[in-house]
Amino acid sequence: MKIAVLPGDGIGPEIVTEAVKVLKALDVPLEMETALVGGCAYAAHGHPLPEATLKLAKAADAVLFGAVGDWQYDKLERHLRPEQAILGLRKNLGLFANFRPAICYEQLVNASSLKPELVAGLDILIIRELTGDIYFGQPRGRRTATDGHFPGSDEAYDTMRYSRPEIERIAHVAFQAARKRNKKVTSVDKANVLETFQFWRDVVAEVGQQYPDVALDHMYVDNAAMQLVRAPKAFDVIVTGNLFGDILSDEASMLTGSIGMLPSASLNASNFGLYEPSHGSAPDIAGKGIANPLATILSAAMMLRFSLNQADAAQRIEAAVQAVLRQGLRTGDIYSNGTTLVTTVEMGNAVVKAL
Ligand code: NAD
Repeated sequence: MKIAVLPGDGIGPEIVTEAVKVLKALDVPLEMETALVGGCAYAAHGHPLPEATLKLAKAADAVLFGAVGDWQYDKLERHLRPEQAILGLRKNLGLFANFRPAICYEQLVNASSLKPELVAGLDILIIRELTGDIYFGQPRGRRTATDGHFPGSDEAYDTMRYSRPEIERIAHVAFQAARKRNKKVTSVDKANVLETFQFWRDVVAEVGQQYPDVALDHMYVDNAAMQLVRAPKAFDVIVTGNLFGDILSDEASMLTGSIGMLPSASLNASNFGLYEPSHGSAPDIAGKGIANPLATILSAAMMLRFSLNQADAAQRIEAAVQAVLRQGLRTGDIYSNGTTLVTTVEMGNAVVKAL
């Protein structure tokens, strides 16, 4: 099985190295090829998503991705910024369904910023639509100077839109996922203010009629943001659009202890997927050897399960991660008194040893 490995920028190469180390320790035949993506690809080839990188990703059975983005590229025109690489990959590969499980491991109950009783046993799934919404509308502003008119302009806007098929397919994904869990879907929108999300609500409700065994409720995004920290265990599956999902899944990450713990899978209609941690390139800690590699290692486990049909290997990785947490090993983001502080590399080595 061929894996395209795209480490990217910032802490990307550090955390992906550890995930690759873990994958190599399994007895699964994987062929891994690495390519540049993001700011480093722009620096080398003048584009954040070079043709060769896209070709490698398309030819692979799955993509393991680190993160992209660096402050030094913030002044580039929008279409050349590192973040366009991940948007381009999602669009080109049709990765419309983003799975972000937020599970609070028993050993990390005290690392969460919420009270232990609120997060102990937490296991929710956020499903974020990934190829529509305001991120793929028409932007206009100072950094989108494709016709040369915008620099100096005094306004900027982005358009928000969803089509019926886009909403239907993500709704089906959510209801089907809920069927394998606790049979409850909460659709998060802003139907009270935005036409796009009134439409979203109507279409999700229509699709819901095909799943009478799954309970559906609708919640405004501002309320959902509050409920996530008030009573997070009341959720099972949350389905939402691209923008709200981006924000709520980061919020949910803190329930689990750290954004460094949260894996993600982005799938297309035929289960081809790109697997990446939910966090970004963390330029503030890049090169220091202190990033938490567990979100990336757990993303590799999701890759084995969802795209490569290797559920046993996935479970072995997840069990190894739990074992190192039980041993008390912690990177700085999940450290608490009485545990052992380790580096990125030491954490990766410990997972390999536990395997
Ligand atoms: P971020 O997720 O990179 O970092 C937020 C905070 O979390 C930082 O304090 C960081 O140090 C910490 N953090 C993140 N991952 C960590 C890890 N594995 N271990 C320990 N601490 C960790 O978000 P940001 O600072 O808003 O963005 C930085 C860059 O990443 C930007 O250029 C942004 O556009 C980009 N970004 C990329 C992606 C992606 O590649 N999919 C996603 C989000 C942000």
